[in-house]
Amino acid sequence: MGVSFDKVDGAMWLDFDVQPAANPVSATDRAARLADPGFGRVFTDHMAIVRYSQGKGWHGARVESRANFPLDPATAVLHYAQEIFEGLKAYKREDGGVNLFRPDANARRFRDSADRMAMAPLPEPVFIEAVEQIVRIDRDWIPGGEGSLYLRPFMIANEVFLGVKPSADYIFAVIASPVGSYFKGGPAPVSIWVSENYTRAAIGGTGAVKCGGNYAASLRAQAEAIEHGCDQVVFLDAVERRYIEELGGMNVFFVFDDGTLSTPPLGTILPGITRDSIIALAREAGTPVREAPYTIEEWRADAASGKLKEAFACGTAAVISPIGKVCSASGDFTIGGGAAGPVAMGLRKKLVDIQYGRAADSHGWIRKVL
Ligand SMILES: *Cc1c(COP(=O)(O)O)cnc(C)c1O
Repeated sequence: MGVSFDKVDGAMWLDFDVQPAANPVSATDRAARLADPGFGRVFTDHMAIVRYSQGKGWHGARVESRANFPLDPATAVLHYAQEIFEGLKAYKREDGGVNLFRPDANARRFRDSADRMAMAPLPEPVFIEAVEQIVRIDRDWIPGGEGSLYLRPFMIANEVFLGVKPSADYIFAVIASPVGSYFKGGPAPVSIWVSENYTRAAIGGTGAVKCGGNYAASLRAQAEAIEHGCDQVVFLDAVERRYIEELGGMNVFFVFDDGTLSTPPLGTILPGITRDSIIALAREAGTPVREAPYTIEEWRADAASGKLKEAFACGTAAVISPIGKVCSASGDFTIGGGAAGPVAMGLRKKLVDIQYGRAADSHGWIRKVL
């Protein structure tokens, strides 16, 4: 039947052995790297690591200098892709403190991902503590203004074995990357390509969990989008090939002329924390939100008739990206004249203001780390 790992208590706690980097990047070099960090190429001085082995459970929690992993060529993750990850950000407040946004939701989703991928479940408090340790020790790397520190927790199967089975050993780690304001001068609308040759997820598959394999499988479709002059790919459902699912790494929303919002239902899509937060903010403001299937034919017809006012994509990295143009083998169409719409921009501002501590956090989403 199921996969069995050593019982992990939901409230389990580990003390991290903190060993500050002996040779951190100098303040001058750090300032140069923070001047224009882009996304995902600049990294902080430290990483957090926790190990798991069958029989011993989670152990060896450390914060140390960011360094290579020595991996035997037969390490399971290199062959069978037993790997999961998360993405969340630390935001610098105007008072100099630092906020995390809903890290408990990332910790819970990480456990769900581990379960689906037959990996050892990491206790949620250990996930959150590892993230907070990195934020604290690398706080000088958090950009001010509209920048943030992108945190990347991940777990890999570390058993040296070529047999196909759930690994007995795992490495959980957190690395961090300062990122600039995703858009200079406000988010520019993106163009998206409707993938008719490839699908992302099927019922019973791994679409709803954050595993690297989903991304590997999306790259060919994303390349097709770029070949057609588009920024991003949008996937349709794998059964009827009609229902809009999501982008390679972002959920989607539709805004209608009757003031309602709609977003594809959970199931095969990734349950985005940004998606969930937008639903809550919209409903709180009195906007009805449907979680309902929506086809590409409806999208095209509603854009043409004017019933559809806006469409946007959402996720932690870019928050909200308006969708200006949709391209497919059967023709292109624009939404709202191809410009960013007021509903997308209003929700974006509400969410970002909460994240940076400029607006009241009535949902208990903010965790002050510093
Ligand atoms: C991470 C991710 C999202 C967005 O999730 P957030 O929690 O909002 O960052 C959407 N789709 C996919 C496929 C993802 O991997």
